[in-house]
Amino acid sequence: MELFSALDPKLQPLDASALEQTRDAFARFDDIAAFNQRKVLGAFIKNKISAELFAGSTGYGYGDRGRDTLDRLFADIAGAEDALCRAQFMSGTHAITVALYGLLRPGDTLLCVTGQPYDTLLPVIGIGGSSNGSLLDFGVVYQQIELLGGAPDLAAIERQAEHAAIVYVQRSRGYTNRRALSLEDIAAIADAAKSANPNALVVVDNCYGEFTQKKEPTEAGADLMMGSLLKNPGGGIAETGGYIAGRADLVERCAERLTAPGVGREIGSWPGGLRNLYLGLYLAPGIVAQALKTAAYAAALLPALGFPADPIFDAERNDIITSIEMGDPDALVALCRAIQAFSPIDSFAAPEPAEMPGYDEPVVMASGSFTNGSSIELSCDAPMRAPYTAYMQGGLSFEASRFALLGAAQHLLEAGFAAL
Ligand SMILES: *Cc1c(COP(=O)(O)O)cnc(C)c1O
Repeated sequence: MELFSALDPKLQPLDASALEQTRDAFARFDDIAAFNQRKVLGAFIKNKISAELFAGSTGYGYGDRGRDTLDRLFADIAGAEDALCRAQFMSGTHAITVALYGLLRPGDTLLCVTGQPYDTLLPVIGIGGSSNGSLLDFGVVYQQIELLGGAPDLAAIERQAEHAAIVYVQRSRGYTNRRALSLEDIAAIADAAKSANPNALVVVDNCYGEFTQKKEPTEAGADLMMGSLLKNPGGGIAETGGYIAGRADLVERCAERLTAPGVGREIGSWPGGLRNLYLGLYLAPGIVAQALKTAAYAAALLPALGFPADPIFDAERNDIITSIEMGDPDALVALCRAIQAFSPIDSFAAPEPAEMPGYDEPVVMASGSFTNGSSIELSCDAPMRAPYTAYMQGGLSFEASRFALLGAAQHLLEAGFAAL
């Protein structure tokens, strides 16, 4: 096979076996992508998207129809009453932060029911006692319920939701070794929370979860969800942005926090134009399928070299992340460097662990991406902590990701971190 003219032919049976093992999973991903693509196309047609909407705007951005229509389009795709889907969100962390500050008031309790939240949210909440304007500084009480064997602890949620303003759910594993939550899990959390306290708001960090299933959390009991356009719903095309989607009254409160009370969603220009946000959203279902195929293939290939992967190759998936236990800091850095070396952009760079804003340990990141930090593109990163687990995600093209993973496998063999 030509693929192996650049690679050790000894890898060929591993590749063949990984493709064979993932055949059923690939068929499932294609089915989900087809369903979601039809939903996305339907929303484009319903909202009468036309090229004038891509123009962008200047100054205050009053009456920017492209911006307002993108909000509406995203709401329809998410099966939500309303949404903000905007370039003015700088990242997923920013979208989540706007939602939390938009909804919470002094004395309220934020109850996270999926264990410790994603690293960059710890300073937002004030976990660890930060005082840079964290929620803690504003008198928001934080409580946390651990997952029970990877599943939500519904009894504890029912007990504690009574006093909670927000029941907060992180769908994806993030940088932890646990499974992503299914939509059934989210529905069960919402039922438990609402039966104890009908006023509790179920708010979901949906980063990496979009389009991995046929529904979104807002169609499974969540009042609000947030995410990043540098991940799944940006389709690898959006250069920046994030979203908040859900109940109309809650989205309105978030809009007041995104800009300023009073002006809310009416302002915000984007002179660069919105074509890429529309195009990325249109392509996202197919791109997420490429990422899911990459994930399943990695979970079949890397265990054959002695590196356990989670979720396993044929698992149901609710996010695009695969964790790979490298067991050793040098092997972890070697994997990240190999992925970088087989990336389309910055293939010549050698990632080094480094301090990152928002993270406690040094983080090593392979991201040879067209968009800075985009992790719907093939990327592999890890905080430098035992058991030295690499978190791999993305892949705009399964074919390119397959080649990169085989290249990484070869590098790990040659460097003596693995043997056949
Ligand atoms: C990526 C991520 C975030 C934060 O998004 P950024 O765009 O990196 O700020 C939050 N939660 C989870 C689960 C994530 O994966």
